[in-house]
Amino acid sequence: MRQKFVAGNWKMNLVYSGALALISEIADLLGPATPTDPVVVVCPPFPFLSGVGEHLPKGGSLHLGAQNCHQKESGAFTGEVAAPMLASVGCEYVILGHSERRQHFREDDALLGQKLKAALAAGLKPIFCVGESLETREADDTFDFISKQLKDGLFHLSNEEFAQVVIAYEPVWAIGTGKTATSAQAQEVHAFIREQVARAYTAAAATDVSILYGGSANAQNARELFSQPDVDGGLIGGASLKAADFVAIVRSF
Ligand code: PGA
Repeated sequence: MRQKFVAGNWKMNLVYSGALALISEIADLLGPATPTDPVVVVCPPFPFLSGVGEHLPKGGSLHLGAQNCHQKESGAFTGEVAAPMLASVGCEYVILGHSERRQHFREDDALLGQKLKAALAAGLKPIFCVGESLETREADDTFDFISKQLKDGLFHLSNEEFAQVVIAYEPVWAIGTGKTATSAQAQEVHAFIREQVARAYTAAAATDVSILYGGSANAQNARELFSQPDVDGGLIGGASLKAADFVAIVRSF
């Protein structure tokens, strides 16, 4: 069944004390879980994962996610973090294919395919990001571009594997820029993504997959974005670092 979903991507921010203060405040403001709560995921930097995980109320709506993982299960890869390590400290989700990873770390669809497999093999649920640049949008190539990212990056998964995936549509021009996509722009692409999923898999898979919007989403614009029929929630960067804003976004359905 399709789930409402809000994930906070803390990126490379905070130090340990600040991360613990943030998660405590988020947990306090959220209060006890209710059946109508969306799934809420926080994705802190690697060194804070266990500590933040210990502050998540047991059995609540808050879950732990990582921002990346390596494609190999273990081995001589100095400085890298493998998916089973993440699972072993309580991670349930992992963001893959974020545009910052694609751009600054040259992660391409072939590598992301391997990372997806590694994450799934470790029992993690991938939050797989796609999104076009401003140049692509202005050239009117958005749909072709997204379709290719989905085909090359994601649609090699089996039906069972795909059922574990959450998709995030993050237009690169909207990330960290304060320039949010309009709800109509988001809806248009989300509906397109759902249609591609129906073609690649089944109508049921398309109905069930959660598709999140990301890119300067905040407490002011979340309600309008989340009111769109194919927008199932958000992947939140900047606004996830302020507990009150993040919780306001979680309450925006
Ligand atoms: P932003 O980032 O909300 O700060 O634009 C979103 C993201 O990169 O996931």
